[in-house]
Order: sequence, then structure tokens, then C-alpha cells
Amino acid sequence: MYVGRFAPTPSGPLHFGSIVTAIGSYCDAKFNGGRWIIRIDDLDEERNVSGADRNILHTLECLGLYWDDQPIYQSQQKSYYEDWRDVLKKKYDIYPCSCSRKTLREHSVIKGGDWIYSGHCKTHFSKQKPIRNHRLNLRQPCTITINDIGQGPITEDLCVTSGDFVVFKADGTPSYHLASVLDDYRLGISHVVRGRDLLRSSIRQAELQRVLGQLTPSFLHLPLVTNEKGQKLSKQNKAVPINLKVPQKVIINALKFLSQNPPSELSSASSEEILNWASEHWDRSVFQSKD
Ligand SMILES: [Zn+2]
Repeated sequence: MYVGRFAPTPSGPLHFGSIVTAIGSYCDAKFNGGRWIIRIDDLDEERNVSGADRNILHTLECLGLYWDDQPIYQSQQKSYYEDWRDVLKKKYDIYPCSCSRKTLREHSVIKGGDWIYSGHCKTHFSKQKPIRNHRLNLRQPCTITINDIGQGPITEDLCVTSGDFVVFKADGTPSYHLASVLDDYRLGISHVVRGRDLLRSSIRQAELQRVLGQLTPSFLHLPLVTNEKGQKLSKQNKAVPINLKVPQKVIINALKFLSQNPPSELSSASSEEILNWASEHWDRSVFQSKD
């Protein structure tokens, strides 16, 4: 059974880049006779903007992107995460880390903008200092391969590219990776269609799934929409919200961006008709030729 999901962060309105991801994951699910679920990633309270979740759902409805089941809010899954935190502490190779940002800097190597944690607290944990995070003790080497539907196998050694990553904070809040994996497990997500900016997250999540004995979903990483400076569209770099007065145009533009070649007759069709066409003619092969 195909179950897909779209997981926006309620930090602002959806921009064209997030619409492309939503339409890509929707069409991939519908083409394959699957269900499409919305998950609101609202664990990071500092990033949450009041009302943004309702605004996102309203935008999806205006575009005719109707979801199955009730949207899942991560902030409402805390007791489920706590159960898993206890299991992780007992059964898995997790260790406490007391590194402050300053110590992290001292004990990490920076590669391509990422801090590669050295595993300092595995051997030098100080009980005098407060625990800040709990990290997953990676096996060495930690080579992991995921199969992307478009790009084929992608291999990374997490010991080289990430180091022991955080699975939950001292207060028990799961990291983005852990929460995502636990939700995918509970919801039975079989396919994750997301932007290529999350490719490296997918690899970390696949490692967590391996450790926890959970199945890794199939992945399709979509090309990213960038602005004229070549930066990924994001709420941080002030991407403009989409124009909901012309939903058909937004959908057609997203399909064109995804190389789905909607026929010109569709420009006068309704959103529903366009999405029906796109769901029936969804073509994954176009993602194979792109880099
Ligand atoms: Zn540490």
C-alpha cells in the first residue's frame, strides 16, 4: 500500500518551491493509487508562526490538493515520542552530550558548512555539566545507501559527513530526524517525495530506521526551485507567497517545473481537471536524466 506525505513547517505561507514539492508528492501518491497525508512539523516552537498551519491547509485546499485523513501535528505526538525516547535510552547505543555551542565548535570539523561532531562526549562526558542532547553512537564506518527513484543509489558514510548526530534533546524533544522517522513508522509511510535539499536528511533518517529495525521508505528527491541568485526558495530568503487568485496557473507552472509537460489545452481547465490529468500522467522518468 502506497502512503505518501507532505510535511510543511508552519513558519510562514507556502511559496512556489513548497507547492512544487506538495504537487510532486500528491501526484506520485495518486498515480500509484496511494493515500496522501499532511504532517505539520511544529516541534520547533521558535520557528512556528501563529496561524501558519491554517494558512498552509487553506492554500492546499484552494489548489485542490485534498489530503486523506486528518492532518497530523507533531506537537500532539509528544507522549508517543516519550515512549520511544525511553526505549532508545534502554536498548540502543545513545550517549549524553553536554557540549555547548562553544565546545561543539572546538570538537567538530567543519565540512561544506556542516559541523562533523567528533564524538567528544563519548569519552569525555562530564557529569558536572548539564546534559544538552543525546546522540546516536554510529557504527564505524557508517556507510549507508538509499535508493532514490530518480537518481538511483546514493551512498554516504555518516561518520565522515555527519558524526554522531543528535536524536533527542535533554528535555526529551526528539530531533527533526527522529521525529520524522517515528511519524513515518506510525503512519506507515511507504514513499517520501521531497526536495533535494533534504537528501542528506533522508540518509540520516535511513540510518535511524536501520538502527530501529524499521523499513526505509522509497525516496524521490525533486529538483529545487531557486531564485535568480541560485538560492533555494525559502521563507528565510523571503520567497513570496503564491497568488491564490489563479490556482490553475500555479499548478500548471509547478507541473512545468517538474517537466510533466501539461498540454496547452489545460490552461483553461479547472484545478481539479489539471490535477486529475497530472495524477494520471505522472512521469517519474523525467527525474532520472537530471543531475
Ligand atoms: Zn558533546
